[in-house]
Amino acid sequence: MTAQIISGTEIAKQIREELKPEIAALKEKYDLVPGLATVLVSEDPASQVYVGAKEKTALALGIYSERHDLPVDTSEEKLLALLDKLNKATKIHGILVQLPLPKHINMTRVLYAIDPRKDVDGFHPVNVGKLMIGEPDYLPCTPYGIQQLLIRSGTQISGAEVVVVGRSNIVGKPIAHILLQKKEGANATVTVCHTGTRDMTFHTKRADILIVATGKPKAITADMVKEGVVVIDVGVNRIGKTAEGKAILCGDVDLESVKEKAKAITPVPGGVGPMTITMLMINTVKAAKLAAGLA
Ligand code: NAP
Repeated sequence: MTAQIISGTEIAKQIREELKPEIAALKEKYDLVPGLATVLVSEDPASQVYVGAKEKTALALGIYSERHDLPVDTSEEKLLALLDKLNKATKIHGILVQLPLPKHINMTRVLYAIDPRKDVDGFHPVNVGKLMIGEPDYLPCTPYGIQQLLIRSGTQISGAEVVVVGRSNIVGKPIAHILLQKKEGANATVTVCHTGTRDMTFHTKRADILIVATGKPKAITADMVKEGVVVIDVGVNRIGKTAEGKAILCGDVDLESVKEKAKAITPVPGGVGPMTITMLMINTVKAAKLAAGLA
């Protein structure tokens, strides 16, 4: 069996096409323009590319976008003051602070300072709690994108054995909780593996759906999965550079060998990555609707 490739690029495009008329209708009917503020405190080229892509996508969809690039030595106090201003700004419905932050800034304090109603990344404890109890306002963007990839590729989620490898707060834990809910597009039996898991292959081999977010290049190989599994590879690993100096990327799954056993698999790049930014746009539109009492 050679796996169907689940294209995040295509599915993300489809979602953005669905979102465009919704944004246009908000403007026409309610004079409401969703607004997103991005905050970057980093000189890291990858972070700058991510923020640039978010801004570009927002503008292309008709979302008002405000970019705040702060010097890398910005004090925590100054960053918190900016967040306070953005929390109060009526034009801004969503605030995104690009992670990671410099070491002298306490990330937890910063994430807690964002008004949960504007927390379109879904990282504030209020939103984490709402997700846990099955009443989310915002799903965190990467896990939300993973769920959409599964739904839109026609994968049977209800009743499936889902194995998640990785338990980070931004990917592993939230996707496990999303797919666990007694809801449409969920209702799975979920196992979460991590570095303390005794026999990982025992679990990965049972998976109908395998979601891998470890940051370990090509760590999941064909001998670790069963025939017919659906694989979502979240990992983004830079494993070298082309002659032109472009980064060579690979996932956490050995695509070449696993695709011979899998029913469907996401590629890297072009799988989960494009979905994350698109789900941020969905959350920003939702934030605007919530603020206007339309959702
Ligand atoms: P993270 O915070 O470093 O967490 C990695 C998790 O994987 C940890 O829970 C760790 O276990 C587990 N792990 C590591 N090696 C393992 C092994 N050999 N066996 C079992 N578990 C192992 O990473 P993250 O932020 O979740 O990101 C994971 C990957 O996804 C990275 O490559 C990242 O770049 C990528 N990512 C992509 C997107 C996107 O939009 N495409 C978004 C976010 C992340 P312990 O808890 O026991 O240490």
